[in-house]
Amino acid sequence: MPRSKGAAGASALSGAGRATKSRTASAFSLGNAAQGAEGTEAEAASKLAPGLYLVATPIGNLADVTLRALDVLRGADTVLCEDTRVTAKLLARYGIAAATQPYHDHNAERARPAVLARLKAGAALALVSDAGTPLVSDPGYKLVRAALADGIAVTVVPGASAALTALLGSGLPPDRFLFAGFLPPKAAARGRALEEIKDIAATLIVYESAPRLAKSLADMAAVLGPRPAAVARELTKLHEEVRRGDLAALAAHYRAAGPPKGELVVVIGPPAPATATEAELDRALGVALTHKSLREAVDDVATATGARRRQVYARALALKGGR
Ligand code: SAM
Repeated sequence: MPRSKGAAGASALSGAGRATKSRTASAFSLGNAAQGAEGTEAEAASKLAPGLYLVATPIGNLADVTLRALDVLRGADTVLCEDTRVTAKLLARYGIAAATQPYHDHNAERARPAVLARLKAGAALALVSDAGTPLVSDPGYKLVRAALADGIAVTVVPGASAALTALLGSGLPPDRFLFAGFLPPKAAARGRALEEIKDIAATLIVYESAPRLAKSLADMAAVLGPRPAAVARELTKLHEEVRRGDLAALAAHYRAAGPPKGELVVVIGPPAPATATEAELDRALGVALTHKSLREAVDDVATATGARRRQVYARALALKGGR
């Protein structure tokens, strides 16, 4: 990695300066891209500017880890792990002998004060989850909030996430999406959660467990209506599979086939655009045609209403012709 002094390094060090016991100015951050180094390569390998590093790890295929993530895991004083045994496999694969410590939903409240004390004393701590991006349906948010409140530098080392991986392979519109995390496990609460998001004009991404999949898909079909969807399973792993179809058909498939093996994400296409009535189109066109060309008015009204351009054009011609 080319290393030169630069602005990014300076900002990382200013973050370090906020910590009560910072490292020497020659320590540089591996946490930002073009970093400055005044020490030797050996020093560089072992030093990381103080702060909290949120490090994404693979969601299956261990080759999906970034070079920067490996640098940070190697350089951190301690790696906070959702499950130290899971992270040990990743560290072993890349020959990293890092100190690890559990930080998960069950010990976070108890562990957080000591973690923050270490950060304030100038430690460089990395946080990882079992798979993917920490904080995304995984622990870490409260730690980040507390660290920021204490003036501790927080650096994100991005990488894999099941949500985006599923979205990309789903074939559904990626331009606007809502990540809804896990839906509630109980049917009534799940129905309410789906009601809340059903009118959002965006692709929906939901994490779901295999045993609940068929029921959850049936609820989605009932509340969200007929929409294209995809179940993306075992992403980046040997038995990766993306099954596409409409929600009701997918629900029927998994009801008959039983719960699939492994981890999965459900991606659901946006609602069909509401079809405007002829009267609504005429009203919108009537306003637009007072100050726009026919073509501009048609384009604007088609975009605003979601109606087909040809239909809007026909109405515009009719209005102009007094029909
Ligand atoms: N932080 C992770 C991320 O960035 O994607 C998600 C953690 S969440 C506790 C675990 C859920 O992510 C699983 O139940 C599943 O819905 C999804 N997931 C994780 N790995 C996956 C994979 N390889 N294939 C499909 N879904 C996966």
